[in-house]
Amino acid sequence: MKKSLVYFTDFRCSDAENLQQKFTRLLKTAGLAKLDLADKFVAIKMHFGEPGCLAYLRPNWAKTLADFIKAQGGRPFLTDANTLYVGRRKDALEHIAAAYENGFSPFSTGCHVIIADGLRGTDDVAVPLPDGKYVKAAYIGRALVDADVVISLNHFKCHEMTGIGGALKNLGMGGGSRAGKKAMHSSVHPSIDHDLCIGCGRCTRECAHGACTIGKDRKANIDPKKCVGCGRCIGACNRDAVVSDFGTPCTVLQGKIAEYAAAVVRGRESFHISFICDVSPHCDCRPMNDVPLVNDIGIAASADPVALDKACADLCNAAPVNPSSCLAGVDTKGDLFTAMHPSTRWQEAVTEGERMKLGSSAYTLKRI
Ligand code: SF4
Ligand code: SF4
Repeated sequence: MKKSLVYFTDFRCSDAENLQQKFTRLLKTAGLAKLDLADKFVAIKMHFGEPGCLAYLRPNWAKTLADFIKAQGGRPFLTDANTLYVGRRKDALEHIAAAYENGFSPFSTGCHVIIADGLRGTDDVAVPLPDGKYVKAAYIGRALVDADVVISLNHFKCHEMTGIGGALKNLGMGGGSRAGKKAMHSSVHPSIDHDLCIGCGRCTRECAHGACTIGKDRKANIDPKKCVGCGRCIGACNRDAVVSDFGTPCTVLQGKIAEYAAAVVRGRESFHISFICDVSPHCDCRPMNDVPLVNDIGIAASADPVALDKACADLCNAAPVNPSSCLAGVDTKGDLFTAMHPSTRWQEAVTEGERMKLGSSAYTLKRI
């Protein structure tokens, strides 16, 4: 199998080169300057962070990347699509306000925020996927489809539904419009283990769809007719009582995400960057963040999003568990992500990415 190149730098720096300069050197070395960006609309696909979460990427990284693109003659913009669940990023007005609140303004990053699927999350394009196993048309936010070049700027961390949140998740799930996200989540519904549930009600407060309620027996229940499969209740429960039957559905979810990611990047140039810092136990979609599971590791960049995700997971799994984190004292068996979210299988993201010919799990890590 042909190995893809993943370029990597740690976060060490000196007076001679600060971290933004080091990031710029990484972009150059990894080949971003070789892309023809002149006069191109360049979508920087990222996650602005749900207000309340402080683990999202610093806006300074977006500015450094946008400056690099502009120096190549490109016309960058920051973009994400609206969420499926009710929060602070469910329509374009609230989403832009959340982005600004978290520091992603044109003044701080030098480029505009465009919500990919428009005011109400309905401005999408059905991108045909003749080779899709689960999806024959992916509903992608129009601004992403209209861009000439797509760059995913990812915060690498855990995710409640997919184990890892990296490039494929950012592109696939993140690029889907509301209709697209609903189609991806449709096969996954958590349920409650009543032996573990103590009826505290935290999951019901987290559920924005009224799907999770407390019964007369003081146990939580999930109504599959109302549940949209967003997974927020899973992270809300301190007793691990919200569980997903992630046998077949997990494979299906990872498969759909990979197919959506393919719909985002096919037919145009793309490039992928992951920051392995603040590796929090949960997605940045939650309005909170717990102590990172490992120390900050570095920045990785590649033309191959599959290799990039695999490399980032391997780097995390090779690092010692942070003794202040929720995994302190837990035998992770060398796999942070499965230890954190036992019903997920992050490796399937990589397998499904390969199936969609998005890249290769075989990689060479080039340290700069
Ligand atoms: S958060 Fe967990 S323990 Fe509390 S009601 Fe929900 S399932 Fe039960
Ligand atoms: S029950 Fe859980 S997964 Fe379903 S919509 Fe509510 S929070 Fe999301």
